[in-house]
This record gives sequence, C-alpha cells and structure tokens, in this order.
Amino acid sequence: MKKTAKLYAVFKARCPQCRRGPIFTGSMYGFNIQRTLHHCPVCELRYEVEPGYFYAAMYVSYAMNMTEMIAMGLATYHFSGGRLDFDSLWLYVGVIFLGSLLLSPFNYRYSRVFLLHYLSPKIRYKPEYDK
Ligand SMILES: [Zn+2]
Repeated sequence: MKKTAKLYAVFKARCPQCRRGPIFTGSMYGFNIQRTLHHCPVCELRYEVEPGYFYAAMYVSYAMNMTEMIAMGLATYHFSGGRLDFDSLWLYVGVIFLGSLLLSPFNYRYSRVFLLHYLSPKIRYKPEYDK
C-alpha cells in the first residue's frame, strides 16, 4: 500500500510513527471536546512520551499564538485604513482577543501535532506500520 505523506499526517493530526492512527478524539470545532489519546490505536505508540511531555507544547502554542496575534494586528491595521490612534485601541484589543479565543482549539491541536511530528527526535516514522 502507498505510504502516507508526512504533511498529510500533520494536517489530519495522525500518529507520527504510523501516520494512520488519530492523535485526538473529537473534532477541533465541535460539541464533542477534543482530547489527546494516551496511545495510538494502530501502532500502540504512547503519545505522552514521558510525564508532563505536553508542557513543551505550550511553547509551540505560544509561538503560534504570537504569530497569529501579530498577523491579526497587521490585518486590523490594514482593513481599518491605517487607524492607529488611541480611539482605535479597543478595536485592536477586541480583534486580537476574539481571534485568539477562536483559534485556541486550533492551537491546542496543532501545537501537540507539531511537537510530536517535528520536535520529538525519539519518535520516528516506521513504514512497516503504515499499511
Ligand atoms: Zn501510530
């Protein structure tokens, strides 16, 4: 069977070792809250490699959130016609706060996916599981 592409596995939030099993239960934006599974249902890889491993995902999430906040600030500046006076302060605060709130499920999911796929040297792709 064809191998699963890494970008596809990242996009679909699949296991970094087999690229088949899901990392989360529930959908990103749904009524069933997303939770990280303890291990991969396909290859049995333990996602939380050591206790407190996902604390490192906070740093990834922080970097993602800062990037998004800067982008939202620049977009607000652009779409408000370059307003940068004191009266438009709450516009910026509102847009950035609401945007960060709406993007938090996305950041939660993909910070863990990025941590597992790109920042975990012990976890390697094993094509023999990708069948
Ligand atoms: Zn797996």
